Amino acid sequence: MSDYRIKTTDLMKQVMGDYFRSLDNGGKKIAWCTSVGPAELLRSFGFEVYFPENHGALLGATRTAMDHIPEAVKCGFSGHICSYTTADIGSFLKNDTPLQKHYGMEGAPRPDLIAYNTNQCREVEDWFNFYADHFKCPIVGIQPPRYLDEVSDDEVKLVIKQFKKMIPVCENVSGQKFDLDSFKDVIRLSKEATLLWQKVLKTSIAQNAPISFFDGTIHMGPIVVLRGTQVAKDYYRTLLTELEDNVANNLGFLPQATSRIFWEGMPIWGKLRMMSDLFVSNNAAVVASTYCSSWVFDQFDENHPFESSARAYTEIFINRSEKAKMEMLKAWFEEYNIDGIVYHDTKTCFNNSNAKFGMPQRLTKETGIPSLVIEGDLCDLRFFSEGQSITKIETFLEQIEDSKMAV
Ligand code: SF4
Repeated sequence: MSDYRIKTTDLMKQVMGDYFRSLDNGGKKIAWCTSVGPAELLRSFGFEVYFPENHGALLGATRTAMDHIPEAVKCGFSGHICSYTTADIGSFLKNDTPLQKHYGMEGAPRPDLIAYNTNQCREVEDWFNFYADHFKCPIVGIQPPRYLDEVSDDEVKLVIKQFKKMIPVCENVSGQKFDLDSFKDVIRLSKEATLLWQKVLKTSIAQNAPISFFDGTIHMGPIVVLRGTQVAKDYYRTLLTELEDNVANNLGFLPQATSRIFWEGMPIWGKLRMMSDLFVSNNAAVVASTYCSSWVFDQFDENHPFESSARAYTEIFINRSEKAKMEMLKAWFEEYNIDGIVYHDTKTCFNNSNAKFGMPQRLTKETGIPSLVIEGDLCDLRFFSEGQSITKIETFLEQIEDSKMAV
């Protein structure tokens, strides 16, 4: 077993710990925001920003989600809707969260304002409205057009209007007037961090890839919760330097890889280690994913802060048509020299599962890249059969290896 390790992981733990503790300071105003929501605009008003989806992932990764989901079900939330939503609400109702044990926090920080963007799903609107009702807290939403082949200027104009409608509410809650220069600064920092994150992911174009999809799900923490800050930018500069050095020195997480795999869909948070070990023990390097790439917002432009953020947040993969998604996947296959794709058909997230309308078959027919669909869930492990998934994945990887040897 290789002793390869990304050393910047220690810094990541420190950065994330500092972030969570900063939310507990009792001083600054707190805004809650969806993970691909208008975080930059909120930061420009001086809000500290908290992301309930990140908390959902934490509940999944610590395998505590299933203790909390029944509590939300008792309140009328179906056990078949987004398990981030049900785990997060259940955890809140029970006042039991890993934030207490890991970061010494009392719980999720109380919101002064809640903001969401339905570019990823409508579930976030219901989820966040639950809290707005509970805390009697102002709530603002962006509802962009969805499932587009192309994002035209008309759609961008509509979303800009929605962004601008947030401003009076933000001014009222924060007590600060909107400052265009401050918004531009945050967009610039966000763009710099997101481009560094993109470069981090692209280091795994190298044959001996230095960062796997599974590592990426851990290292993406700062680009989710701290984009728009200097801290995130500095973090990705450090991580990129280490990974580029590793590429230069031919160091990677699986030097003997015999196949390169693309992961499509959500992580199975409670099984990250098991999945990572499974692919590695079968000499398969999972080098790229739609999930980690979802926080690359290369359209940000500080000279056009409203237009570019409206476009960046509307053009994301999850918000696009099947046709547009297939074009993006084809480009990633080429770029990362992919041998096979694994689709995680996530039981409670219809929105981030792309194996339901024939995409695996169509894409394999067009590209020749073989595909496998496994069933599971982001947080609720009752929907995941470990034995069955191992058998399917091992068989799939064997087939890829056999077909490569036959060439
Ligand atoms: S995209 Fe899926 S996992 Fe994320 S909040 Fe929406 S339903 Fe939940």
